[in-house]
Amino acid sequence: MRQRRPALQGDRGLAGASGARRAGLRSGGRGWPYYNPGAVSEQTAEIVICGAGIAGVAAAYHLAVRHGVTDIVIVDERPPLTLTSDKSAECYRNWWPGPGDAMVAAMNRSIDLLEEEARESGNVFRMNRRGYLFATGDPERVPEFVRAATEAAALGAGPVRMHDRPGSEYQPHHAESFEAQPIGIDVITDRSLMRRHFGWLTDDTVALLHARRCGWFSGQQLGMYLLERARDKGVRLVAGRVERVTTAGGRVASVQVSGPGGTRSIATPRFVAAAGPLMRSLGRLLGVDIPVFCERHAKIAFNDVLGAVPRDAPLTLWADPVRLPWSDEERAELAGSEHRRLLEEFPAGVHGRPEGAGESQSVLLIWTYDVEPTEPTFPIVMDPAYPEIVIRGMSRMIPGLRAYLSRLPRAFVDGGYYTKTRENRFLAGPLPVEGAYIIGALSGYGMMSSNVAADLLAAHVTGSRLPHYASAFQLDRYDDPAYRTLLESWGESGQL
Ligand SMILES: Cc1cc2nc3c(=O)[nH]c(=O)nc-3n(C[C@H](O)[C@H](O)[C@H](O)COP(=O)(O)OP(=O)(O)OC[C@H]3O[C@@H](n4cnc5c(N)ncnc54)[C@H](O)[C@@H]3O)c2cc1C
Repeated sequence: MRQRRPALQGDRGLAGASGARRAGLRSGGRGWPYYNPGAVSEQTAEIVICGAGIAGVAAAYHLAVRHGVTDIVIVDERPPLTLTSDKSAECYRNWWPGPGDAMVAAMNRSIDLLEEEARESGNVFRMNRRGYLFATGDPERVPEFVRAATEAAALGAGPVRMHDRPGSEYQPHHAESFEAQPIGIDVITDRSLMRRHFGWLTDDTVALLHARRCGWFSGQQLGMYLLERARDKGVRLVAGRVERVTTAGGRVASVQVSGPGGTRSIATPRFVAAAGPLMRSLGRLLGVDIPVFCERHAKIAFNDVLGAVPRDAPLTLWADPVRLPWSDEERAELAGSEHRRLLEEFPAGVHGRPEGAGESQSVLLIWTYDVEPTEPTFPIVMDPAYPEIVIRGMSRMIPGLRAYLSRLPRAFVDGGYYTKTRENRFLAGPLPVEGAYIIGALSGYGMMSSNVAADLLAAHVTGSRLPHYASAFQLDRYDDPAYRTLLESWGESGQL
């Protein structure tokens, strides 16, 4: 793959620009044409970031806090973290397929950064490492578990440990902490071990795969922590909609924002597109066709008053397709109705986890069975049958949930869009307009990947050294004929 030259390599870079600023120098040429000594206001900025979702917030944090860039403005027409970034299930994993190790390497870096932030903040966003527990009732899937675990280990997810005897040393997870927990993958095929540690799963489970450098955290707390740290370094939030991006001599010159106080123009040499599901329309303002599409995804939350899902459970996923459980009477009724699809097989992947600490009884469930690309519109309309479908599906794996089928609990449904590239790898790097960058296409993994995406973005902007996986996330990867050929035979997307 070709490596695009970072925009600022060879010229002064941001540190140089700040130095020039401190020295009161006025820059010219391709540098900082809008610098106005002594009058830093919302009418000028060194960088304007469009979008205060987790992508834009993480970008501001990495640029301002970790790279010392000053005079950054984030523009959003909504309050921060409220369009997609508050809809997430807030899980993270270094469990990703190839090709190549780019995804695992990037996610390991993101988790390293999350752990650093958790440590420095006293774990304000309650990061755990309970793992992702995949379960199957199909003996034919067992070799697939072993193959997937071996592949993940080869890609850098950590070692594989096989547990096929009652005495095998399987280390259970800790419910709250991420420290001193194993990484890698445990594959358990011994029934007594399965029953001892996960007795709440269906009796016909034949194998478990426990991916360990995985878990969850509060995405809102993470986002607020990053935003507050960025604001401490002077990052400013401007309420409004980015309506235009103007260029001069082929590079970004200013951003027009319409907001509560009317329309204003912010002169800036750098623009970061972090528009989440609205990325395509933002790209059009720059004359760039950004190759992303959206899928609608929802989650449900309900109070598990019967305690079907243990409060210390990991994120648990059923790896087999499912036929929803219905009584004979319900089956007959559905067969003759417009809802007969509910009798068909649903794809593998229903999953869920307990949510909240202390007295919380809340459980989150997700099932990605409908992945039609769709135009993003708001508010999002959800399938009213979704909560029932998910609870029924999940009861295949956790029989304790069947007690709810005769009288469904009141479930809270919300969701948003996964904004994706065709191979489900995010975008972080320069756009083909000088001074413009993108951080987006974070799909269903944006909370966990926002740190590495912002780390890459900031390295591109400041001309810092790029890691080996950087090119796998740049837009110009699609210019490479070898990559385009690879796309034709791309395997799994890693979406759960
Ligand atoms: C149901 C569901 C479950 C998920 N589960 C997980 C999970 O378990 N783990 C995980 O890591 N991720 C998960 N995700 C994915 C994650 O939530 C997203 O990847 C992430 O929130 C995307 O962040 P973003 O900043 O790119 O977009 P957004 O949060 O949508 O932010 C984009 C912002 O840009 C602003 N904007 C756009 N255009 C303009 C404009 N012209 N002017 C001004 N402002 C503009 C918008 O107002 C918005 O605030 C899940 C997502 C969903 C929907």
